[in-house]
Amino acid sequence: MIETNRDATPGEEDLQQVLEEQARHVGILLSAPQLHQFGLFARLLVSCNERMNLTTITAPDDIVALHFLDSIGVWPKLAPELAQLGTGSPRLRLADIGTGAGFPGIPLKILAPPLDLTLVDGTRKKVHFLEHVVQHLALDRTRTIQGRAEELAHRTEHRAAYDVVVARGLAPLATLLEYLLPFVREGGLCLAYKGPGLAEELPEAGTALHILKAEVERVIPVSLPGRDIRRLVAVVRKKGRTPQRYPRSQGLPRRQPLRGR
Ligand code: SAH
Repeated sequence: MIETNRDATPGEEDLQQVLEEQARHVGILLSAPQLHQFGLFARLLVSCNERMNLTTITAPDDIVALHFLDSIGVWPKLAPELAQLGTGSPRLRLADIGTGAGFPGIPLKILAPPLDLTLVDGTRKKVHFLEHVVQHLALDRTRTIQGRAEELAHRTEHRAAYDVVVARGLAPLATLLEYLLPFVREGGLCLAYKGPGLAEELPEAGTALHILKAEVERVIPVSLPGRDIRRLVAVVRKKGRTPQRYPRSQGLPRRQPLRGR
Protein backbone atom coordinates (compact mmCIF):
# COMPACT_ATOMS: atom_id res chain seq x y z
CA MET A 1 0.00 0.00 0.00
CA ILE A 2 2.77 2.43 0.81
CA GLU A 3 5.45 1.30 -1.60
CA THR A 4 4.64 3.71 -4.41
CA ASN A 5 4.02 7.40 -4.88
CA ARG A 6 1.09 6.88 -7.19
CA ASP A 7 -1.55 8.14 -4.81
CA ALA A 8 0.34 11.25 -3.65
CA THR A 9 -1.44 14.55 -4.27
CA PRO A 10 0.52 17.34 -6.06
CA GLY A 11 1.02 19.21 -2.76
CA GLU A 12 2.29 16.05 -1.19
CA GLU A 13 4.85 15.55 -3.93
CA ASP A 14 6.16 19.07 -3.28
CA LEU A 15 6.34 18.33 0.42
CA GLN A 16 8.21 15.10 -0.21
CA GLN A 17 10.69 16.89 -2.46
CA VAL A 18 11.35 19.65 0.07
CA LEU A 19 11.74 17.08 2.82
CA GLU A 20 14.07 14.94 0.73
CA GLU A 21 16.35 17.94 0.02
CA GLN A 22 16.35 19.34 3.52
CA ALA A 23 16.90 15.96 5.15
CA ARG A 24 19.85 15.35 2.81
CA HIS A 25 21.19 18.75 3.90
CA VAL A 26 21.42 17.47 7.47
CA GLY A 27 22.88 14.15 6.37
CA ILE A 28 19.71 12.04 6.32
CA LEU A 29 18.88 10.10 3.17
CA LEU A 30 15.21 9.15 3.02
CA SER A 31 13.96 6.37 0.75
CA ALA A 32 10.90 6.70 -1.49
CA PRO A 33 8.70 4.64 0.89
CA GLN A 34 9.84 6.79 3.82
CA LEU A 35 9.07 9.99 1.92
CA HIS A 36 5.70 8.58 1.05
CA GLN A 37 4.96 7.83 4.69
CA PHE A 38 5.93 11.38 5.66
CA GLY A 39 3.70 12.73 2.88
CA LEU A 40 0.77 10.67 4.10
CA PHE A 41 1.37 11.70 7.70
CA ALA A 42 1.35 15.38 6.65
CA ARG A 43 -1.90 14.83 4.78
CA LEU A 44 -3.56 13.20 7.79
CA LEU A 45 -2.26 15.94 10.08
CA VAL A 46 -3.68 18.73 7.92
CA SER A 47 -7.01 17.05 7.21
CA CYS A 48 -7.65 15.99 10.82
CA ASN A 49 -6.53 19.36 12.07
CA GLU A 50 -9.55 20.92 10.39
CA ARG A 51 -11.75 19.00 12.82
CA MET A 52 -9.56 18.75 15.89
CA ASN A 53 -7.03 21.19 17.17
CA LEU A 54 -3.82 19.15 16.82
CA THR A 55 -1.19 21.66 15.81
CA THR A 56 -0.80 25.31 14.87
CA ILE A 57 1.84 24.34 12.30
CA THR A 58 0.03 23.51 9.05
CA ALA A 59 1.89 25.08 6.09
CA PRO A 60 3.75 22.31 4.21
CA ASP A 61 7.18 23.95 4.56
CA ASP A 62 6.59 24.44 8.28
CA ILE A 63 5.47 20.84 8.75
CA VAL A 64 8.67 19.70 7.04
CA ALA A 65 11.00 21.91 9.10
CA LEU A 66 9.31 22.38 12.45
CA HIS A 67 7.74 18.95 12.82
CA PHE A 68 9.59 16.44 10.65
CA LEU A 69 13.19 17.67 10.58
CA ASP A 70 12.99 18.92 14.13
CA SER A 71 11.97 15.41 15.17
CA ILE A 72 14.60 13.44 13.22
CA GLY A 73 17.56 15.84 12.87
CA VAL A 74 19.18 14.66 16.11
CA TRP A 75 19.01 10.93 15.36
CA PRO A 76 22.18 10.47 13.25
CA LYS A 77 24.13 12.54 15.78
CA LEU A 78 23.16 10.07 18.48
CA ALA A 79 24.85 7.16 16.75
CA PRO A 80 27.55 6.73 19.47
CA GLU A 81 25.00 6.72 22.31
CA LEU A 82 22.58 4.44 20.50
CA ALA A 83 25.33 1.96 19.66
CA GLN A 84 26.45 2.04 23.28
CA LEU A 85 22.99 1.24 24.61
CA GLY A 86 24.13 -2.26 23.89
CA THR A 87 20.82 -4.10 23.72
CA GLY A 88 22.46 -6.22 21.04
CA SER A 89 19.25 -5.73 19.11
CA PRO A 90 18.21 -2.95 16.75
CA ARG A 91 14.80 -3.04 18.38
CA LEU A 92 15.27 -0.23 20.80
CA ARG A 93 12.28 0.33 23.02
CA LEU A 94 11.46 4.00 22.62
CA ALA A 95 8.64 5.88 24.35
CA ASP A 96 7.43 9.36 23.41
CA ILE A 97 5.66 10.98 26.37
CA GLY A 98 3.17 13.79 25.66
CA THR A 99 3.50 13.04 21.97
CA GLY A 100 0.48 15.15 20.92
CA ALA A 101 0.00 14.59 17.19
CA GLY A 102 3.00 12.21 17.19
CA PHE A 103 6.13 14.33 17.61
CA PRO A 104 8.90 13.38 17.70
CA GLY A 105 7.89 9.68 17.94
CA ILE A 106 6.26 9.02 14.57
CA PRO A 107 8.96 10.69 12.44
CA LEU A 108 11.58 8.73 14.41
CA LYS A 109 9.72 5.49 13.69
CA ILE A 110 9.54 6.31 9.96
CA LEU A 111 13.27 7.08 10.00
CA ALA A 112 14.22 3.99 12.04
CA PRO A 113 11.60 1.28 11.34
CA PRO A 114 13.01 -1.35 13.75
CA LEU A 115 12.12 0.86 16.72
CA ASP A 116 9.66 -0.58 19.17
CA LEU A 117 7.56 2.56 19.71
CA THR A 118 5.18 3.55 22.49
CA LEU A 119 3.26 6.81 22.06
CA VAL A 120 1.72 8.31 25.21
CA ASP A 121 -0.62 11.26 25.54
CA GLY A 122 -3.09 12.36 28.17
CA THR A 123 -5.70 13.55 25.67
CA ARG A 124 -8.12 11.03 24.20
CA LYS A 125 -8.69 12.79 20.86
CA LYS A 126 -4.95 12.95 20.23
CA VAL A 127 -4.63 9.24 20.89
CA HIS A 128 -7.49 8.61 18.43
CA PHE A 129 -5.58 10.58 15.82
CA LEU A 130 -2.42 8.60 16.57
CA GLU A 131 -4.29 5.30 16.13
CA HIS A 132 -5.51 6.55 12.77
CA VAL A 133 -1.95 7.45 11.71
CA VAL A 134 -0.48 4.15 12.90
CA GLN A 135 -3.08 2.28 10.87
CA HIS A 136 -2.74 4.37 7.69
CA LEU A 137 1.04 4.34 7.72
CA ALA A 138 1.01 0.61 8.53
CA LEU A 139 3.49 1.18 11.37
CA ASP A 140 4.42 -2.10 13.03
CA ARG A 141 5.58 -2.51 16.63
CA THR A 142 3.86 0.76 17.54
CA ARG A 143 1.35 1.17 20.35
CA THR A 144 -0.62 4.15 21.55
CA ILE A 145 -1.58 4.72 25.17
CA GLN A 146 -3.89 7.32 26.62
CA GLY A 147 -2.72 8.22 30.09
CA ARG A 148 -0.80 10.62 32.24
CA ALA A 149 2.93 10.18 32.70
CA GLU A 150 2.61 10.48 36.50
CA GLU A 151 0.33 7.43 36.62
CA LEU A 152 1.72 5.24 33.85
CA ALA A 153 5.27 5.51 35.20
CA HIS A 154 4.18 3.69 38.37
CA ARG A 155 2.84 0.66 36.50
CA THR A 156 5.19 -2.30 36.45
CA GLU A 157 4.88 -2.78 32.71
CA HIS A 158 6.16 0.75 32.05
CA ARG A 159 8.55 1.34 34.93
CA ALA A 160 12.19 1.29 33.80
CA ALA A 161 10.92 -0.48 30.67
CA TYR A 162 12.38 1.70 27.89
CA ASP A 163 15.85 2.17 26.44
CA VAL A 164 15.11 5.70 25.25
CA VAL A 165 12.37 8.12 26.29
CA VAL A 166 11.78 11.31 24.32
CA ALA A 167 9.60 14.38 24.76
CA ARG A 168 9.10 17.68 23.03
CA GLY A 169 7.06 20.64 24.28
CA LEU A 170 5.87 18.82 27.40
CA ALA A 171 7.36 20.68 30.38
CA PRO A 172 10.40 22.59 31.72
CA LEU A 173 13.39 20.32 32.24
CA ALA A 174 13.09 19.74 36.03
CA THR A 175 9.43 18.68 35.63
CA LEU A 176 10.19 16.76 32.47
CA LEU A 177 12.89 14.66 34.16
CA GLU A 178 10.47 13.62 36.88
CA TYR A 179 7.98 12.54 34.20
CA LEU A 180 10.47 10.75 31.95
CA LEU A 181 13.25 9.17 34.01
CA PRO A 182 11.03 6.62 35.81
CA PHE A 183 10.21 5.10 32.39
CA VAL A 184 13.89 4.70 31.45
CA ARG A 185 15.88 1.58 32.28
CA GLU A 186 19.16 2.06 34.14
CA GLY A 187 21.82 3.06 31.65
CA GLY A 188 19.16 4.26 29.20
CA LEU A 189 18.57 7.73 27.83
CA CYS A 190 16.13 10.62 27.98
CA LEU A 191 16.12 12.99 25.05
CA ALA A 192 14.63 16.39 25.87
CA TYR A 193 13.83 18.33 22.70
CA LYS A 194 14.26 21.99 23.59
CA GLY A 195 14.85 25.48 22.25
CA PRO A 196 17.15 28.23 23.56
CA GLY A 197 15.24 28.17 26.87
CA LEU A 198 17.32 25.12 27.77
CA ALA A 199 20.11 27.42 28.96
CA GLU A 200 17.89 28.58 31.84
CA GLU A 201 16.29 25.21 32.49
CA LEU A 202 19.56 23.31 32.85
CA PRO A 203 20.80 24.93 36.08
CA GLU A 204 17.29 24.68 37.53
CA ALA A 205 17.28 20.94 36.90
CA GLY A 206 20.32 20.17 39.07
CA THR A 207 18.31 18.93 42.05
CA ALA A 208 16.04 16.80 39.89
CA LEU A 209 19.08 15.19 38.24
CA HIS A 210 20.60 14.45 41.63
CA ILE A 211 17.45 12.98 43.22
CA LEU A 212 16.49 11.02 40.13
CA LYS A 213 20.06 9.76 39.60
CA ALA A 214 20.76 11.04 36.13
CA GLU A 215 23.31 13.16 34.29
CA VAL A 216 23.16 15.47 31.30
CA GLU A 217 25.81 13.91 29.07
CA ARG A 218 25.68 16.44 26.29
CA VAL A 219 23.52 18.95 24.49
CA ILE A 220 23.20 18.43 20.75
CA PRO A 221 22.43 21.44 18.52
CA VAL A 222 20.09 20.68 15.63
CA SER A 223 19.88 23.03 12.67
CA LEU A 224 16.78 23.38 10.55
CA PRO A 225 17.77 24.22 6.95
CA GLY A 226 16.77 27.72 5.89
CA ARG A 227 15.50 28.62 9.35
CA ASP A 228 17.07 30.84 11.92
CA ILE A 229 15.89 28.68 14.79
CA ARG A 230 18.12 27.19 17.45
CA ARG A 231 17.02 23.73 18.52
CA LEU A 232 18.77 21.76 21.23
CA VAL A 233 18.41 18.21 22.44
CA ALA A 234 19.58 17.44 25.97
CA VAL A 235 20.89 13.89 26.24
CA VAL A 236 20.31 12.64 29.79
CA ARG A 237 21.68 9.30 31.02
CA LYS A 238 19.94 7.40 33.82
CA LYS A 239 22.65 6.27 36.22
CA GLY A 240 20.67 4.55 38.94
CA ARG A 241 17.27 3.38 40.02
CA THR A 242 14.60 6.10 40.36
CA PRO A 243 13.32 6.27 43.95
CA GLN A 244 9.86 4.69 44.10
CA ARG A 245 8.00 7.84 45.12
CA TYR A 246 8.72 9.55 41.77
CA PRO A 247 6.95 10.79 39.78
CA ARG A 248 4.80 12.44 42.45
CA SER A 249 1.06 12.65 41.80
CA GLN A 250 -1.54 15.43 41.82
CA GLY A 251 0.33 17.78 39.54
CA LEU A 252 3.28 18.16 41.92
CA PRO A 253 6.01 17.66 39.28
CA ARG A 254 4.61 20.72 37.53
CA ARG A 255 3.56 22.84 40.52
CA GLN A 256 6.54 22.08 42.73
CA PRO A 257 9.40 20.94 40.51
CA LEU A 258 12.34 19.29 42.28
CA ARG A 259 14.57 22.30 42.88
CA GLY A 260 17.20 23.32 45.39
CA ARG A 261 16.00 22.69 48.96
N1 SAH B 1 5.16 16.47 21.68
C1 SAH B 1 4.19 17.16 20.86
C2 SAH B 1 3.07 17.79 21.68
C3 SAH B 1 3.48 18.83 22.67
S1 SAH B 1 2.10 19.56 23.53
C4 SAH B 1 4.90 18.17 19.98
O1 SAH B 1 6.03 18.53 20.26
O2 SAH B 1 4.29 18.64 19.01
C5 SAH B 1 2.11 18.60 25.03
C6 SAH B 1 1.30 17.33 24.94
O3 SAH B 1 1.50 16.61 26.14
C7 SAH B 1 -0.20 17.53 24.81
O4 SAH B 1 -0.67 16.74 23.74
C8 SAH B 1 -0.78 17.07 26.15
O5 SAH B 1 -2.03 16.39 25.99
C9 SAH B 1 0.28 16.12 26.64
N2 SAH B 1 0.47 16.07 28.10
C10 SAH B 1 0.62 17.11 28.97
N3 SAH B 1 0.87 16.68 30.22
C11 SAH B 1 0.89 15.32 30.16
C12 SAH B 1 1.09 14.29 31.12
N4 SAH B 1 1.33 14.60 32.40
N5 SAH B 1 1.05 13.00 30.72
C13 SAH B 1 0.80 12.70 29.41
N6 SAH B 1 0.60 13.63 28.45
C14 SAH B 1 0.64 14.92 28.81
